[in-house]
Amino acid sequence: MSNRKAFFALVFIISCAGGIIGVSRARRGIDINKALDKNNVVHVAIIGSGPAGLSAAVYGARFKRNVLVFKGPKPGGLLTETSEVENWPGNKTILGPVLIADMEQHARSLGVTCVQDTVESVDFNQFPFVLHTQQGDTIYALSVIIATGGAPLFLGVKGEQEYWGKGVTSCAKCDAPFYKGEDVVVVGGGDSAVEEAIQLAPYARKITVLVRKDRMKAAQSMQDRLRQYPSITVLYNVEIKEITGDTNQVTGVSLWDNKDKVLKQMPLNGVFLAIGHKPNTDVFKSSLKMDANGYIKLVDGRTQKTSIPGVFAAGDAEDNYYRQAIVASGSGVRAAIDADAFLTEIGLSLSVQEQLRPHLFSAASLETTVKEVATVAAFDELVASGALVVVDFFTPDCPSCNELEPIFNLVARDYAHVAEFIKVDAQELIDLSERLHITKVPCVMIFKEGNLVASYRKVLSKEELKEAVDIFVG
Ligand code: NDP
Repeated sequence: MSNRKAFFALVFIISCAGGIIGVSRARRGIDINKALDKNNVVHVAIIGSGPAGLSAAVYGARFKRNVLVFKGPKPGGLLTETSEVENWPGNKTILGPVLIADMEQHARSLGVTCVQDTVESVDFNQFPFVLHTQQGDTIYALSVIIATGGAPLFLGVKGEQEYWGKGVTSCAKCDAPFYKGEDVVVVGGGDSAVEEAIQLAPYARKITVLVRKDRMKAAQSMQDRLRQYPSITVLYNVEIKEITGDTNQVTGVSLWDNKDKVLKQMPLNGVFLAIGHKPNTDVFKSSLKMDANGYIKLVDGRTQKTSIPGVFAAGDAEDNYYRQAIVASGSGVRAAIDADAFLTEIGLSLSVQEQLRPHLFSAASLETTVKEVATVAAFDELVASGALVVVDFFTPDCPSCNELEPIFNLVARDYAHVAEFIKVDAQELIDLSERLHITKVPCVMIFKEGNLVASYRKVLSKEELKEAVDIFVG
């Protein structure tokens, strides 16, 4: 074939390929021009702010894309519940919350927007992809990275739900200060169980780790750390069959010894669950392919592509095997690279980015805060005023408290004309916490005409909190 003929043959092949890609894109409805009709557009929407999400954010920003991170119900993810991380290369030891804060700061310094909001529903059949948030925003995303991580598992035994917040919890970091001088158990044999036990050590009198097998699953280095604490013991071959209490507080557990086949009663005041996690993927159930356990399926070999082109997944939402922060981080990087390639493929050039600039999302509308009451006297004075007072009791670094905060802020904004919304550091005002019998945070209490009229020891949804306040309005 002459050079001239070969050139035309090549042009023909390339134009055919372009046509095919064009047709398949058109079939999927992916047309970048559609974004010009919208406001609240983002190039890369990242759902989740653990190591996967924040690593993706850093890379996305370095690709000069506009990146929005939804920090979600548990900002920073599971690393925020961890104390020392000893396997992050380059840091012999670093606190989990510090590592996450550094990552967020890094991402922000590159221009990433991080919002304290949660994606409640998605429509991946439209393009741009539609994300509806808890704070009532609708975001149009040209690409999406799902990095929603995992949520703690429950035992499913009698008494667990009844005494949730009354002695049963899954967050020592949040609730350990309320168990000063008391006897508690930690259930589980993994790294998380070790972490929970160590976080309880400065407070509880006696901590027993309950392991269902004859060995722990935790890394040997983690198990070795347990030996430094004389107040911590490990019991093997035991399973909780029931959690019992006096209706107000846990008083014990029925413990099945699966080796000696005997059921024993164990008196105690607190049960800390650390039995693993499930992926946080319910929101995407009807949109994406998943396995039987709810892990998002990746569809294209060594990529982070999901069953919807333009939607990627990273970290514990798709990884049911490695589940390490550094692996999640790496998969976030891969997802960002894949998302960038996708954006290039659909035509998001620098000039199109410039055209889209006026349509981009701005986070200003999402900023709302509630004042903190810092002394018991100020708290008592406010309650004694007779006003309807709604209080969010929290402790610093408590992930579920962070989960409630944006919901509380949102309802506070909507109900500012009918009630006083305040927050109180339950650890700082421990005398007040003891007086009000708070053993779990977050804890929402409602006071009317000087009296405590309602109390909730869980993360309330927006609707639940509104309903709780509505009862006492007027
Ligand atoms: P894991 O899945 O590693 O461990 C769960 C533990 O709970 C296992 O010992 C399991 O028992 C036990 N368990 C499960 N179900 C029950 C039940 N119904 N009753 C009693 N026990 C039960 O979860 P983790 O949350 O501990 O860790 C998750 C990941 O996070 C891991 O990869 C871990 O390495 C990592 N991590 C790292 C930390 C660090 O480096 N500092 C800190 C915390 C976590 P069995 O062994 O019998 O299956």
